[in-house]
Order: sequence, then structure tokens, then C-alpha cells
Amino acid sequence: NRKFHPDDTIITLPGGQTIGGGGLTLIAGPCSVESEEQICGIARRVKAAGAQFLRGGAFKPRTSPYAFQGLKAEGLELLKEAKKESGLPIVTEIMSANHIDLFLENGVDIIQVGARNMQNFELLKELGKIKKPILLKRGLSSTIEELLMSAEYIMAGGNDQVILCERGIRTYETYTRNTLDISAVPILKKLSHLPVLVDPSHAGGIAWLVEPLALAAVAAGADGLIIEVHNNPAKALSDGAQSLTPDQFDKVAEHLRSAAKAF
Ligand code: PEP
Ligand code: MN
Repeated sequence: NRKFHPDDTIITLPGGQTIGGGGLTLIAGPCSVESEEQICGIARRVKAAGAQFLRGGAFKPRTSPYAFQGLKAEGLELLKEAKKESGLPIVTEIMSANHIDLFLENGVDIIQVGARNMQNFELLKELGKIKKPILLKRGLSSTIEELLMSAEYIMAGGNDQVILCERGIRTYETYTRNTLDISAVPILKKLSHLPVLVDPSHAGGIAWLVEPLALAAVAAGADGLIIEVHNNPAKALSDGAQSLTPDQFDKVAEHLRSAAKAF
């Protein structure tokens, strides 16, 4: 709460990367880790484009149990490999408190709590006991207040390194996958000292919408973006429709940096 903590929280990683407190953080990578060649290739490209972090899902929360569920522990190993090769710290989603040790052993730098687990309070309490940054995504149908209370669950346990993420919410609109609640950005910045990121990929669900939504997020005061990038979106095992190619990401990253300077 800003009342008790007027200054912005700045998350600083052991490698010196920071999130919050000015500057634009770019986290990019595929929805799912699919192979060593895929994740290492994408890591090289997003790093060259200026991303400071690599994302990639190993444990995937899919709507259908018959859809690709992620490479799980092998996916974490591949992320570790991509981190070693590229030097980029890694961000990946956790779905169970049983996996915390596995994530720490594999050198995960930022642990993502996905929209579907935003109110998994037992998971949040366990993540409150560790000293790792947590990227907490807003639930599909959660209010801003509920997102902030979930952040409190983590911080109440002693882990104050929480990053908030607006990723779109469910509304009656069907053109987009979700509706990006752009007003959440200034509201969260006003109420909370925590860094606020926006995920334009899961918000819009369509690759061409990523750039305009990301630019709107920068204009609204977001501390950074998390963007899905895939070497071959048409063949992606998850979320291909919203994934940018590395070439497209090059341009988007450049435009976002110019926008960040202007605002
Ligand atoms: C993801 O980041 O791949 C993801 C599943 O996001 P969300 O939890 O926002 O749906
Ligand atoms: Mn995804």
C-alpha cells in the first residue's frame, strides 16, 4: 500500500537487472518450451532485440487435459540451458507448491503465478516463504482489489519481491481473447508500490494486436511488458495465434523503447 510504502519497489536480480522504478522491462519468449533448439534460438533473438528476460512455460495450465501440458521438469532443464547460453534470466510458471524446490534447483529467476492460480492461496503462502521474485498475474475474472490481496498473501509471508501483471480479463467482448483493462495500470500504480507489467499477448490473443496494446501499456505507465515470441507461430504447441515472430518482435521492441522515451 502506498500509504505505508510511498517509494516504488525496485526488484533487483543477482545479475543486476531491475524491474520497476523507471526504465522499461521486456520479458519475451515462447508460451511453451518445446525443444532445446527452439528455446535457445528464441533466447538469442529476443536478447538481440533488447529483451532483458526470457519467458517460457514448462508446466502449462491448459483448458483441455488433452492439450500439450508442457515438458515439465525437462522444460526447466532446457530453460536452464538457454539461460546459460544467452545470459538471460528466466521466468516460468509454477502450478504447484510441490515444485518450488525443483524451480529453485533449476535456477528459475522469476517464478510466475498464472491467472488460473492467482487465488491459489496455499501456493501463494508457500511462495511467501522463499526469497525469489514472483510475477503475479491477474485472474481471468478478478478485481484489482483481489489481485492486490493475492500479492499481500505472498508479502505477508516475508517475500516482498512481487511484480503485478495485467493480462486481460473476461468480458462480454469476443473479438479478443480477453479485454485488456488498461485502467488497471494507473490504478495499480496509484494504490501499490509494486512494479506493474502488462501481457498484451494473452490480453488480445492475436499477434497483430500485441503492438498497439503494448504501446497503450507504456503510455499508461507500465513498468514493462511480457510478450510471447515463437520461431514458427503456425506450428507452436500453444498460443501460436498470439505469438510474434522474432522479426516482428524486433520492430515491436524498438517501437516500445521509443514510446517509453516519449512518456
Ligand atoms: C502464460 O503466460 O503462458 C499464461 C498461461 O498466462 P495467463 O496465466 O495469464 O493465462
Ligand atoms: Mn501462453
